[in-house]
Amino acid sequence: MDSFIISQGIHFPCEIKNFEGDYYYKPDQFFTMNHTEIQNPLDQIKRSDTLLRQVFQKKKYSITIKSNVFFVNSAFTLYQAPLEKPILYPTQLTRYFEELNARSSILNDNHYKLADELVKEHKPSSPYTRVPPYTYENLKKGLICGSCYSYEILPGENVLICNTCGRQEKVEDAILRSVRELQLLFPDIKITTNLVFEWCKVIGSKKQIRRVLKKNYTKIGNRHCTYYI
Ligand SMILES: [Zn+2]
Repeated sequence: MDSFIISQGIHFPCEIKNFEGDYYYKPDQFFTMNHTEIQNPLDQIKRSDTLLRQVFQKKKYSITIKSNVFFVNSAFTLYQAPLEKPILYPTQLTRYFEELNARSSILNDNHYKLADELVKEHKPSSPYTRVPPYTYENLKKGLICGSCYSYEILPGENVLICNTCGRQEKVEDAILRSVRELQLLFPDIKITTNLVFEWCKVIGSKKQIRRVLKKNYTKIGNRHCTYYI
């Protein structure tokens, strides 16, 4: 849960997603257009609803909640989504908040108490997810071996070989692994051919990287400014 709107009567937990590009829905699953399954945000609100209800029950609050997933990026499209799902699309947000603001809502002490309780219950992210600050610029570039994490990778046309442990990996697999690394380290970074080229260092041909990206990701933008999602 990213936000929680307190109002008179019903409260509105919000899961906010900044997905960009085209996606499609199949019963209980979300996919990108190249058929990669992504975490279903509707599952996330289901889980957080259950947790919230448990908290409220423990505190003996009798509260009605209505959760929604908010897709806030105006370049987001979701195909095949059923009407009844608690989803708000970018084009609906203004109206949603206008309607919400138009409802008369007088907040009393209980509402403020509820807000305090929620803040107290809010668990900061696990200490294990805390990592030292880093930037793209200050990280060492170069593909590392998936087994022994050595940077000593010998380039080949189709297969890369680790000079330390001898592990072989298809160039395509190595490129995709690097893209996943980049996405994990920098969730907001735009995956471009040049970026992956610089990040891997050992792949000699940008053409090869472009081909792998094209095949596995969705291309966004025009000739002068292309990235992949
Ligand atoms: Zn190795």
